[in-house]
Amino acid sequence: MQKQIAVIRGDGIGPEIVNQALLVLDEIARRYGHTFRYVDVDMGGCAIDRWGEPLPAAELDKCLASDSVLLGAVGGPKWEGMPGDKRPEKGLLALRAGMGLYANNRPAKLWPQLAGASPLKASIVEKGIDFLVVRELIGGVYFGAHRTEEVDGELVATDVMPYSEHEIERIGRIGFETAQKRRKKLCCVDKANVLDTSRLWRRVMHRLQSEYPDVAYSEMFVDNAAMQLCKDPSQFDVIVTENMFGDILSDEASMITGSIGMIPSSSLGEGSRGLYEPIHGSAPDIAGQDKANPIGTILSAAMMLRYSFDAPAEADAIERAVSAVLDEGLRTGDMMSEGCTLVGCAAMGKAILAHL
Ligand code: NAD
Repeated sequence: MQKQIAVIRGDGIGPEIVNQALLVLDEIARRYGHTFRYVDVDMGGCAIDRWGEPLPAAELDKCLASDSVLLGAVGGPKWEGMPGDKRPEKGLLALRAGMGLYANNRPAKLWPQLAGASPLKASIVEKGIDFLVVRELIGGVYFGAHRTEEVDGELVATDVMPYSEHEIERIGRIGFETAQKRRKKLCCVDKANVLDTSRLWRRVMHRLQSEYPDVAYSEMFVDNAAMQLCKDPSQFDVIVTENMFGDILSDEASMITGSIGMIPSSSLGEGSRGLYEPIHGSAPDIAGQDKANPIGTILSAAMMLRYSFDAPAEADAIERAVSAVLDEGLRTGDMMSEGCTLVGCAAMGKAILAHL
């Protein structure tokens, strides 16, 4: 196959981890007879420095003209004082909205080799952690109106959290369909005891439920879900939830699986073009020091092969190679434990290449 991939290295550790993922994709292309053409895209802090805005229209166009997008991470202290619309994260929100990516898919899987790195008790981890958070990505409070005004001599801030039925239905269907491909359990996480948006989510989900009789459907308040993820994560298969709850729960999910550096994600809309990125940020504290874990980005490339390019054998090969280096005891600092060998970002990438 021939594919064009838009590559956003971004800021902080972004360039280091993306470079390792590209070496892996090159090796996959060589072994399986594919051609991947990479198109560099500026987004985030580096785009602000170069173009004065986090995602210039021409850069978004390059993504829209590609078969998929691979992203490292954006942001950092350098741009933190910038006004709201000139911040690196705005580029990310604009990219998701511009590409119409409403479904963010974040697997939380404990690699058995990393069981010791989970902060949870062994008795909890032993039961296994393997679930997936399907997060609505372009609606809710992150995309509603934001306002700060003076009322009666003090500042009052308001953030609006809108959801319409069609937005809920399309992500709800992804939740049910994803569950059908896994262990057939779907839990809708919300705050229906307080929020109208959550009550609308439930109404729409109940309507959809009858179309997916093979899926065991349940509902949970988000505060309880945050607790249950620590108490017994093995109870979950697929969680579907709105934008902000998904943002928070998926970070919690990454922590209990050992390291934030291991988790990939996909964001999809209509059609096969997606955005693939690790779930962590630009880690400015370790940027440029060859300390970053590139596995989340490498596994994101594997997800791209699986979900956008319909190449499951190639994706399996990458995941097997990652498992093999973990078996060998190689660890970057974020997941280091006693008896293992500490390696840097480039050495970790090289070891994965050697196992492909
Ligand atoms: P972060 O995820 O960048 O870092 C949190 C901690 O995890 C740090 O100690 C970091 O060193 C470590 N870490 C993260 N990824 C790692 C990896 N691959 N290997 C080893 N260690 C890793 O979160 P933060 O510190 O809250 O944010 C830093 C910047 O990133 C901020 O500007 C934030 O806005 C931005 N951010 C960007 C994205 C994105 O691009 N999608 C997501 C989250 C945060």
